[in-house]
Amino acid sequence: MRRIYEPAAYNVDVNSYWQTTTSPPRWPQLKEDRSAETVIIGSGYTGLNCALELAERGHDPQSIVILEANQPGWGASGRNGGFCCIGGTKLPVEKQLVRFGEAETVRYFKEQCASIESVRENLKRYGIDVDTHSQGETQLAHREEDVAGLSAEKEQMKSLFNVDCELIEKPALSGEGLASPEFHGALNMRLGFALNPMKYLAGLAQSADGAGIAGYGDSPAMAIERDGSYWKVSTPGGAVAAQNLVIATNGYSSEDLPRWLSGRLLPVLSNILLTRPLTAEEVAAQGWTSNQMCHDTRNLLHYFRLMPAANGESGPRMLFGMRGGTTANEATMAAMRQRIRADFERFFPAWRQVETPFFWAGLVCLNRNLVSHTGPIPGMTNAWASLAYHGSGVAMGSHCGRLLGKMIDGALTPDAIPAIMRQPPRRFPFPALRRSYLAAAYRWHEWREH
Ligand SMILES: Cc1cc2nc3c(=O)[nH]c(=O)nc-3n(C[C@H](O)[C@H](O)[C@H](O)COP(=O)(O)OP(=O)(O)OC[C@H]3O[C@@H](n4cnc5c(N)ncnc54)[C@H](O)[C@@H]3O)c2cc1C
Repeated sequence: MRRIYEPAAYNVDVNSYWQTTTSPPRWPQLKEDRSAETVIIGSGYTGLNCALELAERGHDPQSIVILEANQPGWGASGRNGGFCCIGGTKLPVEKQLVRFGEAETVRYFKEQCASIESVRENLKRYGIDVDTHSQGETQLAHREEDVAGLSAEKEQMKSLFNVDCELIEKPALSGEGLASPEFHGALNMRLGFALNPMKYLAGLAQSADGAGIAGYGDSPAMAIERDGSYWKVSTPGGAVAAQNLVIATNGYSSEDLPRWLSGRLLPVLSNILLTRPLTAEEVAAQGWTSNQMCHDTRNLLHYFRLMPAANGESGPRMLFGMRGGTTANEATMAAMRQRIRADFERFFPAWRQVETPFFWAGLVCLNRNLVSHTGPIPGMTNAWASLAYHGSGVAMGSHCGRLLGKMIDGALTPDAIPAIMRQPPRRFPFPALRRSYLAAAYRWHEWREH
């Protein structure tokens, strides 16, 4: 397994708040050689939804194998910010229009909306309670000149996608419970909602178990080979020979599993800080009472949401996320923790004394195309992948897992999905320099946006 970060980025201990709220099922290790119709590598939202779709389409659940290197919930799906929203890309709409044309851009937007509905449907179908809140998401202008950008976005959302958004001027922010010296205006887009990501993941994993799908934990795929008309995936305890292979490893992918991935992905660290429960007085002192999931207008954005009290706690907690560093060693992590705390205090000065006992990190997945890829792996028979959701894969990962399941079943042809979603990731030039490109991009955006 060749990976792009140092081993600390793949630590078994995650230490997220979500782990204190629920525990996904633990899966046994694979300890034999066995066969299967489909072997799925990775048990996050993508892998689990793909497996469930296949089982629900009548494929023998015992012949659907999921191999997980750790345990369900260990990856990004168990440690993210819980924004179930429009996502899957970092390619601005203007560039989508130039590259793919208006019809495909609109088609893609509809698919992004459908991805939110896929999650809603899962919650309903499997009866998963995930502490939902937020009526869509709110974007906040961190500079006065960004308010004009929000206004233009509101017009574009209406004219291109027929979606009504609501612009909030600076004087009205406090009345909306969004009081912060950092912001100059906001745009509400009533699409999406927030959830507890680990409860969602746990519910999916339990549903997979309930359906009889064969999940194995502590079973990292170490090699993938073609063996006659089968894919042979080897783990330390045994191997699986399967007709279909699915790669659902996103930011935790290896460069050589399969070799096709080499140099094509850019995993990126994202960090989350979480407060202790706030008292009613503390919430009132800041004037931040809104439960909207929010992000600012920076390219390297901050994402945050005041989560209503849940799990028997005494008050709401604020979740605050931003980009991580370009290395995962202890010194960088400590520096990034100080930095996220400083930004948190600047955004919410009344909470300068509030402790933030939880801090954790995880890998999101970017690529050179700036759009996710769902479909067959070029040059590999009966091999499929869905990955690179660009930091927003709660909805997209779930939906694309379902799409892969339909493709493997034959109910959906790969070219039936929007063109933007079926662009195999291109290799980066000089892939060994990917983290250097990232560091340079961070410096550039931070200088521009300061
Ligand atoms: C800190 C953070 C905050 C985020 N916030 C949001 C958010 O608010 N909203 C949003 O939409 N998205 C968010 N994301 C992104 C989102 O979590 C991911 O896009 C999504 O979870 C990807 O799901 P997945 O199933 O494709 O991959 P993952 O959930 O990462 O699962 C991949 C799995 O593959 C396993 N694996 C890897 N290699 C192997 C191997 N060789 N053998 C076996 N198993 C292997 C890993 O152990 C892992 O469990 C965030 C991500 C992070 C890290």
